[in-house]
Amino acid sequence: MTASDRALDHARELVATARRVEVFTGAGISADSGLATYRDAVTGIWENVDPTAMASIDAWAKDPDTMWAWYRWRAHLASQAEPNAGHLALAKWATYTPLTVTTQNIDDLHERAGSRDVVHLHGSLFHYRCAVCGRPYKGDVEKPAPPQCPLCGNLVRPGVVWFGEPLPAREWEEAERRMREADLVVIVGTSGVVYPAAGLPRLAHEQGTPIIEVTPMETDLTPLATVTLLDTAANALPALIADLD
Ligand SMILES: [Zn+2]
Repeated sequence: MTASDRALDHARELVATARRVEVFTGAGISADSGLATYRDAVTGIWENVDPTAMASIDAWAKDPDTMWAWYRWRAHLASQAEPNAGHLALAKWATYTPLTVTTQNIDDLHERAGSRDVVHLHGSLFHYRCAVCGRPYKGDVEKPAPPQCPLCGNLVRPGVVWFGEPLPAREWEEAERRMREADLVVIVGTSGVVYPAAGLPRLAHEQGTPIIEVTPMETDLTPLATVTLLDTAANALPALIADLD
């Protein structure tokens, strides 16, 4: 029996006895759908753009039209991607065991795979709000420049969290609650370097909750994990729940 077989057996034992599962996902699971992280996504017309410069409130203030076009383009890419076997396995698992998903991803692949109760810690490419009064915007976004808020007339912005901005309070509290209440935590495709989100698995670790990590290579979170499956989400998650059938 290889080390990876033993790890999978151990992880399946944890799955078999879990009664309340919290899954915490990052860019790795979207990468399996061919959806690059923004760092890799710089191609074509955006080749000469520094993506980190496209993720701050200062950049928005300076050049909202360019920012708007960038996020519309990213929303287009995300809408072209399909949920992969990893997303689908999580949705299927939830039909056997109470399971919630907290994601750092701003795409909607978990929802399109059939997961409900998805908390988006970093917002969504498909939500928009007024940059000043915060009112959610449900109008037409197929425009070359940001539309105006019908309430206050200021510009509508992408509903994502930029560098230097706090995470949405309600989502953060919900994510903390889920981490504390779960009796099994599964971390998928996250490097554990983006704080404060990366602190969430530590809550589970501190109270002794078993943690399964799914990642192609070891991360900063690996020392917290009870067992690490060194594989992609699309491979590892279907294998993880294979015994549930
Ligand atoms: Zn407004």
